Amino acid sequence: MILAPTMLPADYHTHTRLCKHAAGEPLDYVRAARRRGLPGIAVTDHGPTPLEYDGRHRMEMDEFPDYLRGVETARQEDPSVLLGIEADYFEGCESFMEGWLAAHPFDLVLGSIHYLEPPPREKNELRHLWDFGAIRAAWKRYFELVGRMADSGLYDVVAHLDMLKRNGSRPLDSDLRDWALPALDRIARAGMAIEVNSSGLRHAVREVYPSPQLLRWAREREIPIVFGSDAHEPEQVGFKFDLAAQQARECGYTQALLFKRRIGSPVSIDGSTPTGRPLASSGSRI
Ligand code: ZN
Ligand code: FE
Ligand code: FE
Ligand code: ZN
Repeated sequence: MILAPTMLPADYHTHTRLCKHAAGEPLDYVRAARRRGLPGIAVTDHGPTPLEYDGRHRMEMDEFPDYLRGVETARQEDPSVLLGIEADYFEGCESFMEGWLAAHPFDLVLGSIHYLEPPPREKNELRHLWDFGAIRAAWKRYFELVGRMADSGLYDVVAHLDMLKRNGSRPLDSDLRDWALPALDRIARAGMAIEVNSSGLRHAVREVYPSPQLLRWAREREIPIVFGSDAHEPEQVGFKFDLAAQQARECGYTQALLFKRRIGSPVSIDGSTPTGRPLASSGSRI
């Protein structure tokens, strides 16, 4: 039997020490990606906001130049490293995000929802998204926020699409259909991609984000994908990407996007040759 060549995808979701809950410099992640034989990496730490919003899990505004220097240092060793950011979407963020994202030379902007309500900047008893996973109304509210994030046109890729399930609570199939399908339609209309995020395999749910069902619905809508480990330490780069890629193939995907300056181009994830046909990303509108 002839096996297709093993092609792991690029890792487009990694953090650094600047977000206060991860370890390592960009260079450490880049070296880990090379050791794993990954074809590329984006550094996408939690972006700063000047607003009253979750300062405990992100770099400060005045640390952003350190972040840029860290990515620049990594690029001296590997010029292909992408400058990315994981930017939260929350109600009221739009005017800040629009100006700030456009002001920096990002290759990739992940759009993430981590809270159902904007948390105060320094409050200790934050309730993350996944604390609400067992609550039906939370899933409904969450997918409505995903739709609004897509409509904003500010982000390139929806990160960890169903992270509410992190602690092991999954929605009813009928609810998922009612609430996720409209969100996926809005993602498709916005020209966004979604992330196949392997970090769920490290969490209680033990499942990739998003689920196979969501990924099949995304495929039906021709929503492109990228892969991310959501590494918070260098050893997690490319975490279980063989399984994540296998799941994507089982859901009908043969390509993932390669990003540069916020434009995505499809490359093969099944061992055949890249097509190189460029797709416009939402970022090109900013
Ligand atoms: Zn994080
Ligand atoms: Fe996130
Ligand atoms: Fe992340
Ligand atoms: Zn994340």
